[in-house]
Amino acid sequence: MSSDSGVQKFDILVVGGGMIGSALALGLARQGWQVGLVEGAPVDGLLAKPEEACSVEGFEPRVSAISLASERLLESLGAWSRVQAGRHCRYREMIVWDGDGTGRVHFDAAELYARSLGTIVENRNIVRALFESLTDSDVALIDGVRVKAWVRGQGVHLEDGRLLKADLVVGADGAMSRLRQWSGLATREWDYDQQAIVCTVRTRQSHRYTCWQRFTPNGPLAFLPLSNEACDEHFCSIVWSQDTEEARRLMALDTETFREELETAIEGELGGVLDVSRRFAFPLRQRHAKDYVTDGLALVGDAAHTIHPLAGQGANLGYGDVRVLLEELERAKELGLAPDDELVLARYQRRRKGENLTMMAAMEGFKQLFARDELPIRWLRNTGMRWFDKLAPLKNRIAAEAMGING
Ligand SMILES: Cc1cc2nc3c(=O)[nH]c(=O)nc-3n(C[C@H](O)[C@H](O)[C@H](O)COP(=O)(O)OP(=O)(O)OC[C@H]3O[C@@H](n4cnc5c(N)ncnc54)[C@H](O)[C@@H]3O)c2cc1C
Repeated sequence: MSSDSGVQKFDILVVGGGMIGSALALGLARQGWQVGLVEGAPVDGLLAKPEEACSVEGFEPRVSAISLASERLLESLGAWSRVQAGRHCRYREMIVWDGDGTGRVHFDAAELYARSLGTIVENRNIVRALFESLTDSDVALIDGVRVKAWVRGQGVHLEDGRLLKADLVVGADGAMSRLRQWSGLATREWDYDQQAIVCTVRTRQSHRYTCWQRFTPNGPLAFLPLSNEACDEHFCSIVWSQDTEEARRLMALDTETFREELETAIEGELGGVLDVSRRFAFPLRQRHAKDYVTDGLALVGDAAHTIHPLAGQGANLGYGDVRVLLEELERAKELGLAPDDELVLARYQRRRKGENLTMMAAMEGFKQLFARDELPIRWLRNTGMRWFDKLAPLKNRIAAEAMGING
């Protein structure tokens, strides 16, 4: 970082220190770039370790299913051992079934000769692990202050009046990205008219280190296993996607009635629901930037794309962006190119857009398939699921793809 007449200058400035931006900043600094990271929240709060009580309120309601490919990326950044030092739960199996029929698909890590299919981690634990690594790195952390504007050719203006300049600015500022708006990068988007209700539950039986997902015409309900060494294997994070009106009704229920409805919705799996935490609702919207790059600016993570949480792939797609942008910028450094070189950014966009679009289309297809409740389609769907479950080579190839085992 250099400073000239009070203006701080960087090779690359990352705006947004969520799960994605903080990982990117860390990787860039390791490549030897001069990197700044602006995060609106104060770092002290992000580094604070909350008391991990043995109760449904002791877990963060927002969790992510981290794929093996994302795990490898975090490992290469030196952050995965810090994630593992905190609460996390490796899941070995996944059971998906049709709430309107008899179709059931069972994925098992053992069939893939893998230790697990992925790891469920509370989002705050991933961010904390990354910030612990960042404080040991050369990244200039500018925290507790938000970006007020980005002006092409001028730089990034902070709310406290500071001006930051960089050859390349990366927008990692989440789904409502202001960087995306200021840069004029258009999006293609539509509202699902659905909300995802998330909370933590305690179940009668052990979760058996398994992700449970029931599909209904209104949307999927997932029980994701959580681990707490101090407690036992009876805590799960739930993501219940429902049409907006139904989600509002569920959010308005008292705790006991919600618990009963949840127990019915999961069809008694896990022996019933004993306790539920406070609930949170997230409106669901599919959003995809038509371009990820423009002069001197690139988008990563939710700033570039948000997808339905039904397969828990949002953060994993973001980590895919990080991996590819790091590869392209490392190559640029070796070739002596500037980080905002047009060809470097174009290669990043080309490599990521196709993969992200494929995943988004797959999620959309899945959602549409389960939204149909005409008898012939239900029959085909259930027969197809049973057939797919028995076809081990195809099933395992798809699972390996989703978990990043092939990557
Ligand atoms: C219900 C639900 C369940 C999900 N489950 C999964 C899952 O199982 N697996 C999975 O892979 N993904 C999942 N996702 C998606 C995942 O949570 C997101 O893809 C991921 O959090 C995106 O991270 P991000 O860093 O891009 O954005 P964010 O987490 O939104 O981070 C953006 C950061 O930018 C900062 N910021 C914003 N504006 C400014 C500004 N002007 N100045 C300074 N700082 C700013 C914010 O403070 C924030 O820290 C789920 C999403 C939902 C809604």
